[in-house]
Amino acid sequence: MSVINLAAHEMAAKLNDGSLTSVELTNAHYDQIAQVDEAVHAFLYLDKEGALEQAAAIDAKRAQGESLAPFAGVPLALKDVLTQKGIPTTCGSKMLEGWRPPYDATVVTRLKEAGIVILGKTNMDEFAMGSSTENSAYGPTHNPWDLDRIPGGSGGGSAASLAAFEAPLAIGTDTGGSIRQPAAVTGTVGVKPTYGGVSRYGLVAFSSSLDQAGPCARTVLDAAMLHEVIAGHDPKDSTSINAPVPQVVKAAKKLDVKGMKIGVVKELQGDGFQRGVLDRFHDGLDALIAAGAEIVEVSCPTFDYALAAYYLIAPSECSSNLARFDSMRYGIRIGDDGNRGAEEVMNLTRHEGFGPEVKRRIILGTYALSSGYYDAYYGSAQKVRTLVMRDFNAAFEKADVLVSPSAPTTAFKIGEQVDDPLAMYLNDIATIPVNMAGIGGMSLPCGLATEDGLPVGFQIMSPAMKDDLMYQVGGTLEAALLSKWGAPILSQAPELAGSK
Ligand code: GLN
Repeated sequence: MSVINLAAHEMAAKLNDGSLTSVELTNAHYDQIAQVDEAVHAFLYLDKEGALEQAAAIDAKRAQGESLAPFAGVPLALKDVLTQKGIPTTCGSKMLEGWRPPYDATVVTRLKEAGIVILGKTNMDEFAMGSSTENSAYGPTHNPWDLDRIPGGSGGGSAASLAAFEAPLAIGTDTGGSIRQPAAVTGTVGVKPTYGGVSRYGLVAFSSSLDQAGPCARTVLDAAMLHEVIAGHDPKDSTSINAPVPQVVKAAKKLDVKGMKIGVVKELQGDGFQRGVLDRFHDGLDALIAAGAEIVEVSCPTFDYALAAYYLIAPSECSSNLARFDSMRYGIRIGDDGNRGAEEVMNLTRHEGFGPEVKRRIILGTYALSSGYYDAYYGSAQKVRTLVMRDFNAAFEKADVLVSPSAPTTAFKIGEQVDDPLAMYLNDIATIPVNMAGIGGMSLPCGLATEDGLPVGFQIMSPAMKDDLMYQVGGTLEAALLSKWGAPILSQAPELAGSK
């Protein structure tokens, strides 16, 4: 077993005891990237020079006996929707080709302060719109479990980089499931923190009331440790919550759910969910029962309308957020030959710069917000959003956390759903309610579906600012399943050329 197969906290232990340097660790990951990323295509940009410089600086500090943060010297893959000063940030769009942001996102500032080494930027659906990473203007990412299949989306690059051992940690963003659904279909762990728990400053906006950055990793503890690095109040984001960060690392280490009530959401199973997904989900429930949790069934009837409401709210907000891409301020400019007016240049640039899904959503959102239709569409969707929150509130009266499968199916084939937006949208049926209510959600692997041998994700949802509860349950479930399996799920993934 090579050092790249370790969990991030195990890598950190080796850095601390002096048996490994950050430069060696970083180089080992670039070697793996060189071997497998042509096939996986998790990365859009690699900053090898910057990362090795950062790694060498950490090694020097450690050699001088400076006390360092827990993940100092450990590499990470960053979703290309967060700004990193001087590093190309495309959001998977042609529109932003060549744009180098002049500032760091707060998440990036915190990663750097913690000494985490940023390897590069990961592929994603254009402006985070999608469930398969096929909407990237730079070509799809391939699922390391089966290169013909999707790695989920929009954060498919981040999830695939973990599953392909190209990085031990990654950052994703989740507007309707883009951290959790990719985690589910790649056999990795992904967490959407409570809305406002992590700063959105420097996160290129898709749907501001739903977007949230969060940790991606291969273990629950690694995700928790990364969560504590990036979370916490930021005066630069007015929606950031000014309260102590929930103690998620402590919770992930508890490994105890005795007496906890786990609510199974009736509406998030059954019709439309693959047999093997439901079987593995039930295995997860059995493991929690064996660990001393009590399972209760809860009903959240308005979840049936959450997806429809999301596809009005998210496009509405995106139609306003993406208006900033006007050919004047960022990225590409088409047709500016001195003979055309600003409006024509703007039209040509948007025609050229945005892909079909982004255009579809801008048009949908503009329509939903237009006078005469506003109340019927956007207004109704907001009312549904309130009802979803009420369903959650009522359910959390009966249970400490809620659970469901993270996604209705395992990874589908690349190309299978690209011509059917509605089928694509259904991939987020189980993850979207969490964003609508602004609460926390985690996906962790709960086994492989019998029919196709592909990973299944188990979703845990916790009340706002009680993110520690999902980590407590997730950590316990992970430990129980690990002792049953004998080895982490990713050890069952087929070997990629050059790995292990
Ligand atoms: N797949 C969903 C969408 O396309 C969610 C995307 C996300 O969470 N960024 O809107």
